Amino acid sequence: MIYPWLSNVEQQLAASFNAGRFHHGQLFNGQQGVGKRALVEQLANALLCLSATNLVPCGHCKSCHLNQAVTHPDKYVVQADGQSIGVDDIRSVSDFMHQSAAQNANKVVVINDCHKMTTAAANALLKTLEEPSPQRFLLLTTSATTQLPATILSRCALTQVKVNDANVAMNWISQLHVPAYPWLKMFTQQPLLIARWQQDEQLKVIDELYKFATELKQGHNFSALVDIISKDTERVRVFCLFLSEQLKQQLIAGMDFDSYQSAQNALAEFVQNSTQILGLNLPLAVSRLAYRLRKSYK
Ligand SMILES: [Zn+2]
Repeated sequence: MIYPWLSNVEQQLAASFNAGRFHHGQLFNGQQGVGKRALVEQLANALLCLSATNLVPCGHCKSCHLNQAVTHPDKYVVQADGQSIGVDDIRSVSDFMHQSAAQNANKVVVINDCHKMTTAAANALLKTLEEPSPQRFLLLTTSATTQLPATILSRCALTQVKVNDANVAMNWISQLHVPAYPWLKMFTQQPLLIARWQQDEQLKVIDELYKFATELKQGHNFSALVDIISKDTERVRVFCLFLSEQLKQQLIAGMDFDSYQSAQNALAEFVQNSTQILGLNLPLAVSRLAYRLRKSYK
């Protein structure tokens, strides 16, 4: 078991593999921090392992040793280089798939964040998906199936990777011994995000963002906030997640729906502008956002 909340998915995949129904193109969709990469890594290693049981690698065979050393010749991993995965990356995937396996067994390609493929790259991948060869497997991860062409979606077996029981995630998070921040429960779908923030000593900054979000409607001086969010687009998203949660609470508490929607629109616009426009005047964008939110809160 990799993470306790993934055990159901692991069992389902093992069952389909043992029954000979494991599809050659597997797509794993789930939020960032839910464990897609760890899951796909284990699957890839199991498919390459010479004596895996229930799609779990043995850890001792020659293949497992090669995987541990990250030198397995029959495994190929594609990551987005910057913003996108280009057609050349996918051409090397099909070349790799056509070569014979060094171990005389399976060959596995992993493509992380496959929604970052360009249109040309997606078209090139389609060919590989349409002409499956025995003992060749494509494992794809994404956090945005809506950004994938329907042609790719329809040719893959889709697995949703998510936390089904929030308590399981909260128990796991509590074992990290992080302070009992009020916002932890907003990340029960992304437990690994909490672990990463802890490791990178980011938890205090995230907590500051939470406080800024709570006080935004009273605030007038946004320079400290701007200073924090200007360093990382992830922080923009987290800050807006906090604001969005607050709005949902306000809606439950009786905010009228039009105000709620216009506030959510202001938020969405802010996220888009501050993550996509280079050289955006962030202090101005923040005060504009605060102004629009304040109007809806009244
Ligand atoms: Zn093995």
